[in-house]
Amino acid sequence: MRFKDLAIHEPKVKEALEKVPREKFIPVGYRALAYENMPLPIGYGQTISQPYIVGLMTELLALKPTDKVLEIGTGSGYQTAILAELTAQVYSIETVEPLAKSAQEVLTRLGYKNISLRVADGYYGWEEESPFDAIIITAAAVEVPPPLIKQLAEGGRLVAPLGAPGEIQILWRFSKHDGCLHRENHGFVRFVPFTRRKEENGTLKP
Ligand code: SAH
Repeated sequence: MRFKDLAIHEPKVKEALEKVPREKFIPVGYRALAYENMPLPIGYGQTISQPYIVGLMTELLALKPTDKVLEIGTGSGYQTAILAELTAQVYSIETVEPLAKSAQEVLTRLGYKNISLRVADGYYGWEEESPFDAIIITAAAVEVPPPLIKQLAEGGRLVAPLGAPGEIQILWRFSKHDGCLHRENHGFVRFVPFTRRKEENGTLKP
């Protein structure tokens, strides 16, 4: 067993956590800690999320094998791989180009064919591929970006840590019914900040 005592109950999510080699997504110097239940640095001030949180957020998405999923914040690509084990097609957006590149390399080497990556500001989502059955945001935002709410399918689920960056956030699970979002609180978490991508002249994209 790779992970012992993780409080993850959904058998398919547990299987995916056992299957995906987390050490491949981690810089060489930290690999000895790959199967500890802790976040680890992946460079550029970012972290690979704690395995329990990856499992919990995946469980909350209640994925079906036919679902189309959007992830904001590819980071190492580890959560992306877990999603790709459970669903038909995963789209993932990362704002830090070198992280997206290295995630792409690892995911290709591991043989994933149902993942599309893009370097962009995830605030805008991936409109051409919408609607999505599930959306996961893996960085802390103050609110869910409105374009993402629009791109969530009817009956879709969205999981996101919301709160002030640099502080503790609340993990929310939203579901969309009759065009309205309903939300559930899933406790405190701590994520790196959701950052808006800047243009060369320092202004935000429209
Ligand atoms: N799921 C990843 C989490 C990485 S940390 C993993 O387990 O490895 C969150 C990531 O979100 C960081 O890589 C950060 O660069 C990215 N991010 C922050 N703001 C973003 C934005 N506006 N659009 C896309 N990605 C963003």
